[in-house]
Formats: sequence, structure tokens, C-alpha cells
Amino acid sequence: MRDVPETDSPDTDWPETDSPDTDWPETDWLTNPLDDDKLREECGVYGVHGIEDAATYVALGLHALQHRGQEAAGIVSCSRKSGFNTVRRLGYVRDNFTKPSVMDQLPGRLAIGHTRYSTAGSKGETALRDVQPLYADFAMGGCAIGHNGNLTNADQLRDQLIERGSIFQSSSDTECIIHLMARSIQKTIPDRMKDALRLVEGAFSIIAMTRSKIIGVRDPLGVRPLVLGRKGDAWILSSETCALDIIGAELVREVEPGEMIIVTDDGIESFRPFEQKRGRFCLFEYVYFSRPDSVIGGLSVYEARRRIGAELAREAPVDADLVCPVPDSGTPAAIGYSQASGIPYAMGIIKNQYVGRTFIEPTDHIRDMGVRLKLNINRAIIEGKRVVLVDDSVVRGTTSRKIKDVMLDAGAAEVHFRIASPPTQWPCFYGVDTPNRSKLLAARMTESEMHDYLGVDSLRFISLDGLYRACGHPAGRNRSEPEFCDACFSGEYPIEPMEARARGCMKLSENA
Ligand code: SF4
Repeated sequence: MRDVPETDSPDTDWPETDSPDTDWPETDWLTNPLDDDKLREECGVYGVHGIEDAATYVALGLHALQHRGQEAAGIVSCSRKSGFNTVRRLGYVRDNFTKPSVMDQLPGRLAIGHTRYSTAGSKGETALRDVQPLYADFAMGGCAIGHNGNLTNADQLRDQLIERGSIFQSSSDTECIIHLMARSIQKTIPDRMKDALRLVEGAFSIIAMTRSKIIGVRDPLGVRPLVLGRKGDAWILSSETCALDIIGAELVREVEPGEMIIVTDDGIESFRPFEQKRGRFCLFEYVYFSRPDSVIGGLSVYEARRRIGAELAREAPVDADLVCPVPDSGTPAAIGYSQASGIPYAMGIIKNQYVGRTFIEPTDHIRDMGVRLKLNINRAIIEGKRVVLVDDSVVRGTTSRKIKDVMLDAGAAEVHFRIASPPTQWPCFYGVDTPNRSKLLAARMTESEMHDYLGVDSLRFISLDGLYRACGHPAGRNRSEPEFCDACFSGEYPIEPMEARARGCMKLSENA
């Protein structure tokens, strides 16, 4: 492999056109009763090199990655004529990156984008200053950066950098990378990025852009996904393969754990800036985060979820009349459970896809209707039936309880919960929004206590070995060298989350 000198010229006199933050997202108060009880994926990243109107392709890619973050999105493009241009907005991609008046601000053959749900930085109320990609001017040229993941030593780095004079513009952990790059003595942006990333700990899949290059990097364990695609002469970097499909691009391969790929007009180059380690990809991507039409490690996410359901049927059989998914994330596992058990599959719960986008003002009375506004029980199918209800996970348990109640109200004879992941007992510190440990139902209760709390006829979770089998490891989990990160199930963190421990995130007391 060969390193190449960065030849970007300074771009300090080119305009950056951050848009005003007038487009606030529509309130999603109706979706909260459900979404608050799910782990939330953090971010999606996307980059395109070598095609006119690259930003339009990035907007489409981000739209396909919208499930990875709905609070805000941003695109930075670069053209020879106008240099770097940035638009960052709060809200959905489709509401912000479709109008010609916006897309015309983003000319050029290079563009990167980011869709965000905050895991570090401002919580809940995303501030525009935290919306990525972030942009910085260095002596050798400009650089935009978008980050999926979470740095576990960000507080320490931030304190050190501020002590030495760095002035932070955002509350995002990603900005540490920019300040570390600014302090590097290397001559090129990729080399400065390597220096900076050797100092950070945690999970990162990063897409960066200079005036002539896009760069994709994964942390040494490859916790978060990143793939490389091709469309004609253009190269694409994306969090997931579903966002290659939307623009008709082909999957070339995954960016490997610990790999940095640099795309220029001459093609791609690959570097290994970190000590080689065995990958520990996030197991929850298969269970819930990734879209079912994506492919990870050669395995379709849909197929993995279907197999999880089949494993669950073998591990936790039950006499029942129907298998129903909790839509939408429980659907492939419910199909697998039905196929393996021979119990008929049915859509016993119908999800209203549009409930979050309503013109009705949220009164307390309507809020109290909670889960019914989002999920409607298909009474004609459920009445008098013994139902196996398949969901992807139990986090706080509040939604599971409500769903059981509405199933019984609709006349179900029995409700048996089957969960397509092991009990979620530990928080994630690698770029997924998880409550503190004290808020996780499985951290506070045994399986039998959860069964009583939820008030269901039976409750079973897939085993960790079963989950590994379904995700392509027939021998189950290798206990001495696990193939995935499974810390939220096992408590075995592949990167020690020292700062989170110090903040008390692992404590079980309510005050933690
Ligand atoms: S802790 Fe869980 S959610 Fe977080 S990276 Fe590991 S497996 Fe994924």
C-alpha cells in the first residue's frame, strides 16, 4: 500500500453556506410511546466521489439511512468553482433535501452526508451546531467529517484539548477528532486523521471529505458498519447496503475493521493505521438497527432475523394458534418462528405508519391513548386465539406491557411473548442511545420477575448462543474470543467504557 501526498490547496476564501435553522422537525410526540422503549441507532453516514450533483445522491442515500437517525441531517459538497458548501438542517432528510433551492447550494462531484440521532452532545433537542458533517479549515485545505459511533474517552480528550487552548464549537464528541487533527504535525489531511484516530477510543465509522478525496475509516474492532460501493465511475461509502441500492450502486465490499480507504480520481487506496485486532461488530445491528434489506458480512439482515425467529421456536416452543409480529421490527423473526414451529403467521397488529405526522394538537387525553394510536389490534384475527407475539427486544418493558393489555382487550385467549434478542441488561457506549442500567428492565429483574411484571402467559428470550448461531456462527458464541460485540447482553465490553462507569451509568440504583 502506498501513501500519497495531499495536494489540496487552501480553501479558506470559499464560502460555507450553512442554512438557517428555521425548518424544525414536526413533533413526533405520538411515536414516543413506542420509540422510547427501543434502543435507538445513532447515525448514518454516506459519501459519494466522482459524479455530477453528488449531493443529490447523498440525499437519496441519507433518506435510505433515515432509520439510523431522524433528528437532523447535513450534507457538505465540494466543487472546483465554489469550494465547500454545507447545508445542515433539523428534521427528516425528505423534508430538507429535496427542494432545488436547497440542492442548488450543494454543487460538485464530491459530497458527504450524515443523519443524526444524538448519542453524545445535545440530548433530545439537537442543536444545529451539533449537526454533522462538521467542517474545519486546516493549513493544507478544508475537511468535512461525519461520524457514526461514540468515543469512550471523549470527556478526557475534550478537557485536555480545552486546557491546551482548543475552542469547541459544538458539544459533539466528533469535534475532538478535528482538534486532534489540528494539533498533528503531519503534512496531509489523511495523515493527520490517522494521528488523531490513534488517540481516540471507542467506536467510529467515519466518512470525511477534502477538496479531492473522500475517506472512510472504521475503528479497529469495526463495531459500526461501513461499506464501499460503485456506480459507474463513482465510488460510494455508506453505513448500509440498502443505501447503495437506492441509487443503483453495487456493493464492492465492506470497509474492514481498522481500515482507512481513500478515494480519489485515481481510484481507491487502503491503509491500516491501527494495530490489527479481531473485529467485534455490533450484534444488535442484526437484531434491530440495520434495515432488513441490508447485507452485513455476506448475510442478509432479513435472513438473520428470520433465522433468529426459527432458533427461538426451537429454544422456546409453545402451543398456540397464531404467531404475530410486533411491527415492524419483529416481522422477519415472527416469520421464522412460524416457519419453524408450523404455527400460522398472521398480522395481528397493524401499525399506523403516519401517526407521527398529524395536525392534531397533543392534548393529555390523546397522549393517554399511547400505544393504541400507533398500533391497532386486528381484532377479527386475534379474538379467542392463543397468540405468540414476537418482538425484537425488551428495553424498559413499558411498551410490552401496553401491547399485552391491548391484545387481551381485543379478546386474545393467551399472549406468549418471544423476544428475538437476549435480555438487554447493559447500556451501550458505542453509539447507541440506551438508558442507564437502572432503567433497563432486564438489569433489574430476572426472567421470571419480568414475566410477572409484564403479565403475559409466557415470556422467553433467545439465548446468546442461539443468536450467534442465527447470525452465521453455528457453534454459538466463542466464549474466549467472541466474534461480535454483545456487551448489552453479556456485560463484556470490548472497549472499556471508563468515563461512563465514572458517570455512574452502570449503577442499578434509580438515582444513578
Ligand atoms: S453494546 Fe450492544 S448495541 Fe452497543 S455495540 Fe455492542 S452489541 Fe451493539
